[in-house]
Amino acid sequence: MVPGRTRTHPEETDIALTVAVVGGGIGGLCLAQGLRRAGVDVTVYERDQTLDERRQGYRLHVDARAGLALQQCLPPQLFELFLATCGSPSHQFTVVTEKLKVLHEEAYPAAADPFAPATLSTSVDRRTLREILASGLEDRIVTGKELTRYEADERGVRLFFADGGTAEADVLVGADGTNSAVRRQYLPHATVADTGTRIIYGKTPMSDEARELLPAPLQKGFMAVVGGAVGMATGLIRFRRRPEEAAAELFPLGNVRLSPAEDYLMWAVSAHQKQFGASDETLAALTPAHLHALAAKMIRSWDPGLRRLQMLADVKETFLVRVRSSVPVSAWPPSRVTLLGDAIHAMSPACGSGANTALKDAGELCRALALEPADVVQAIGEYEQRMRDYGYSAVEASRMAETETGSRRNRALFWLYRKVTR
Ligand SMILES: Cc1cc2nc3c(=O)[nH]c(=O)nc-3n(C[C@H](O)[C@H](O)[C@H](O)COP(=O)(O)OP(=O)(O)OC[C@H]3O[C@@H](n4cnc5c(N)ncnc54)[C@H](O)[C@@H]3O)c2cc1C
Repeated sequence: MVPGRTRTHPEETDIALTVAVVGGGIGGLCLAQGLRRAGVDVTVYERDQTLDERRQGYRLHVDARAGLALQQCLPPQLFELFLATCGSPSHQFTVVTEKLKVLHEEAYPAAADPFAPATLSTSVDRRTLREILASGLEDRIVTGKELTRYEADERGVRLFFADGGTAEADVLVGADGTNSAVRRQYLPHATVADTGTRIIYGKTPMSDEARELLPAPLQKGFMAVVGGAVGMATGLIRFRRRPEEAAAELFPLGNVRLSPAEDYLMWAVSAHQKQFGASDETLAALTPAHLHALAAKMIRSWDPGLRRLQMLADVKETFLVRVRSSVPVSAWPPSRVTLLGDAIHAMSPACGSGANTALKDAGELCRALALEPADVVQAIGEYEQRMRDYGYSAVEASRMAETETGSRRNRALFWLYRKVTR
């Protein structure tokens, strides 16, 4: 912390602010980058042993919220790497039937620069983004540290981990995702509701055969397929630069490396749980191969080209998402414990908004903590007030988009999905 800052506890002054971030996901890492840039002593405690332990290479739509937060928090060269490794932007959003009959087409205005932070509108590979966010933080991330509980008072916070270890900090940020241990203890009344939607996500690498099969609308942008009770969202990621090559060029000393990645088609077969013909327990136990086969079965009467594209997937990359959405809670009194991202406002992926909102949180909280607030707790309270406002609005918008796109009767309203596409 900045010399001279006073804390809420009157006896303590002139001590550097220490921030413990629990969760090394998209929001937690972005916050850590920003705090480090601002000279704040930050440590990220991540449950997983390594940052690439879980499957995470899916396509994320990113917009101005992400653009501005990443520009603020990342060192300029890493921000440049982020922009270099984004996907080409979409120019059009199309809704088709399962037989590829066009129901709705919407072209995007070409005026805004899709790679300028304030008008960013493109896609990234989640794994690439997370690798960029973790770059240079090696000495600030402690892996294999699962938070189980904490103790907090007006002077600071003590963290307790599953391995028996403890740590101390002035501020604790729960960036630990939808099942947040921090939220469960801090705001036990804040719950996460199951929306009933289940989604099987898959990835089809862009082989020559797959490229040939791409329906024309997919060449221009995101395409949503409405097939009665089952829907499919599809989006290409065409890297502007291969991540590994862009990193080697921008960081010739090799201090930043990115995993190789190739262009791919993301597809997501979604329906209400009942349509999957299996209980959640059974679905959760399915292997990627079984999930891939189940998705194929659900679209078995669809256009042959679409089915073939699904068949050409990298099967081991198939995974299931049970969609959950935070139930907003009223304002709580601020303290030295706070939350960001899915930990406080988990939302349906229908609007492509969760990561964007988590990144915005990181930027907002970073600003609050790095600006030498006379009172850290008050600064956290001001962040939380703003965050609840836009965070819960995003939850509601995503919930509505999911509801309105989940029904054949409302197929015309599928255009709401357009936000995912740009
Ligand atoms: C398939 C899919 C597609 C999506 N598409 C989009 C999109 O297009 N655009 C968009 O904006 N959003 C999208 N989202 C949502 C987005 O991925 C999330 O909103 C975002 O990852 C939230 O970031 P976060 O940092 O809050 O949490 P996470 O990224 O989930 O990170 C939480 C971290 O906390 C760690 N952790 C958990 N518990 C503990 C503990 N007790 N102790 C220590 N560490 C812990 C976890 O291991 C994890 O690393 C999508 C989500 C899915 C599943």
